[in-house]
Amino acid sequence: MKLFKAKKGIHIPGKKEDTSKLPSVKYISPEYVYIPLSVKGSDFEMFVKPGDQVKLGQQIAKRERDKGLPLVKHATVSGEVVGTERKLHRTGLPYVCIKIKNDFLDTPVEFTPIEDIDKLDNVKLLEIMRESGVVGLGGAGFPTFLKYQNTKDIDTIILNGAECEPYITADYRIILERTDSVIDGLRIMMKVADAPNGIIAIKKGKKEVYKVLCEATAQYDNIKIMQVPDEYPAGWERQIVYRTLKRSYENFPFECGVIVNNVATSAAVSQAVREGMPVIERIVTVAGDAVVKPRNYRVRIGTLASDLIQLSGGYAPEHKDVRVISGGPMMGVSQKNDEFVVTRAVSAILVLSGTSEYQVPHHQPAGDVLLNVLHFVEHDDRHFERDEQPCVRCGNCVKHCPAGLQPTLLRIAAQAKDEDLLGKLDVMKCINCGTCAYVCPSHIEVNEVINKGKKYYQVKTRNKKK
Ligand code: SF4
Ligand code: SF4
Repeated sequence: MKLFKAKKGIHIPGKKEDTSKLPSVKYISPEYVYIPLSVKGSDFEMFVKPGDQVKLGQQIAKRERDKGLPLVKHATVSGEVVGTERKLHRTGLPYVCIKIKNDFLDTPVEFTPIEDIDKLDNVKLLEIMRESGVVGLGGAGFPTFLKYQNTKDIDTIILNGAECEPYITADYRIILERTDSVIDGLRIMMKVADAPNGIIAIKKGKKEVYKVLCEATAQYDNIKIMQVPDEYPAGWERQIVYRTLKRSYENFPFECGVIVNNVATSAAVSQAVREGMPVIERIVTVAGDAVVKPRNYRVRIGTLASDLIQLSGGYAPEHKDVRVISGGPMMGVSQKNDEFVVTRAVSAILVLSGTSEYQVPHHQPAGDVLLNVLHFVEHDDRHFERDEQPCVRCGNCVKHCPAGLQPTLLRIAAQAKDEDLLGKLDVMKCINCGTCAYVCPSHIEVNEVINKGKKYYQVKTRNKKK
């Protein structure tokens, strides 16, 4: 069987210049933090009750594998547990959250730092990763230890630092600000997987991070810094593996001897192992044309997006309508309001105006300018000014889909709720990258419809198995 080779990509404006050069600002002062559990909440075992005093880093809830993805939650400030409250999650769904009133003392639990990881076996290292709540900080939120459990014949760990969505510079800053932790985490993960080689993949043109990483890894012969094209979605796992190692896989990277983690996840692994410190904070980019001062913040998990927007000077007064998105413009989720919670997987909060004047970028080739004028995604500045037109069967979406799918047919199958056709067209392979909507001259939100079809297909096939 011929395996699909992931190498398609499109050029989209990066829009990263507002925040990439600014050091992240530490923010530890939310009055309350909200630690999200799930929509139901009852799938988690809670270790605290209202009125309890908690310390920074203390485990407050846990979900075991029989109830869903195994996750551990920690207090990200010290203070008093108020109770539970529903808040918007990055997915747009209302989640049950544990609300903690910050006492601003940051009284920590007793951490057990480990100097010499060679004294620990892999089982112990995996346990530390699990109990510290390390998950994919690039946006996936998938528990990291699961990628390393029961794996064999892994020869390479790849750190994904491509950060291909526009506006977001959280990974860029973490590479610059926590270089040693990123590399240390990589070395720990190489040890856990018994992998002889490590790769850190970044985008071409990121000269500053390339230089910093090359210098910091010069002493390790088995770690390479590799550059992937400045395209979207260069940060997709499949593309990273293909672009760096020329390998393809059917379902998961381990099938071809590789595990992929994000650079921020790597820094979190280092922190968990070396300092015994769970994931209590992360870097978040606050950007977009409708926020006064775009910036990166180091914030406690459970901080509300509204706090960070205020810290950034609030909404730009010249814009009447704004949209707030958790994540990037291509894959992020438009939120009903700004009272959503920064979780471990939220890398950005975008504040975009409803409409804005399009500035023709004169330095761009004519073809790219045309593409920018014609094509947009749901969260593009010009979205609200454009009407959806009928599909003209141009095939653009098929030509550009990085997953090798047929978006135009998938959309029809999703609208018809045709479960068989959705299956035949491999709907589950869609990574919801938004490229099909971006390149559609008829302004059809192709990926939105396909995403709904994907959920429909998942539920239908799950019900069949019962
Ligand atoms: S959203 Fe899905 S169908 Fe559309 S281009 Fe991306 S992978 Fe292909
Ligand atoms: S890009 Fe848009 S108009 Fe062209 S085939 Fe796809 S859905 Fe139809």
